[in-house]
Amino acid sequence: MNARFIALFLVFCMIGYPAMAVDDADARALAAGLVADEINFAISQTRTLEGIVVGIDPGHQAKADREQEPIAPGSKKTKNRCSSGTRGIKSGIPEYELNLTIAFQLRDMLEADGATVIMTRTTHDVRISNIERTKIMNEANVDLYLRLHCDGSTDEDKNGIAMFVRETGSKKEESALAGNLLLDWMARETGANKRRVNRSDNYTGNNWATVPTVLVEMGFMTNAKEEAKLLAADYQTKLCTGMLKAVYAFVGR
Ligand SMILES: [Zn+2]
Repeated sequence: MNARFIALFLVFCMIGYPAMAVDDADARALAAGLVADEINFAISQTRTLEGIVVGIDPGHQAKADREQEPIAPGSKKTKNRCSSGTRGIKSGIPEYELNLTIAFQLRDMLEADGATVIMTRTTHDVRISNIERTKIMNEANVDLYLRLHCDGSTDEDKNGIAMFVRETGSKKEESALAGNLLLDWMARETGANKRRVNRSDNYTGNNWATVPTVLVEMGFMTNAKEEAKLLAADYQTKLCTGMLKAVYAFVGR
């Protein structure tokens, strides 16, 4: 852990980090400003992610897998090995397709900057459970594990970007920090509605992780306006640029 990471971490602590993930707008704005200044400086000085390993999971797969697996190590509670995900309200495009499209773009941008990228899947026709996906990242000991998803709701007005990180357990503080950086940068790059970083132990893929892990909800496919944006290549680039900058900030480059 280098000095810059510690400095960033202290910034979040000093402005009341536990409350920040909730609703403290002033604290959030302050943190976003400080972080933004840091990252702009960093990128202009040394734009490389050499030696950094990033894991990307394009969420879901062609066929849902309703066999059960434990939600956390040692837990009796179970969930589907892989749920079906949402789909575009106008286009009908399934979430698993869009997640992979954006994942490829993010992979290419990270690799162009020197990072090593590990993908859980590069095709749709796979059968990999959430635990299995996370174990790939644990074994590779990635610096950051990004689980890319798009959101869905019966409320067609709902829109915007949100993060899910662990509430307890291994790497929860690092994951929350990464979640805040991702939310700040993705909202900044896209202009999307900035929702929040949710701390929850309800996600199998997060609970099994021994590495910093964030489930990234990139936007709602059930909101017609946001769906149109999510399907547009230039908006996808903005999402990925936001994630790239957050990775830089998180690893202290
Ligand atoms: Zn999903």
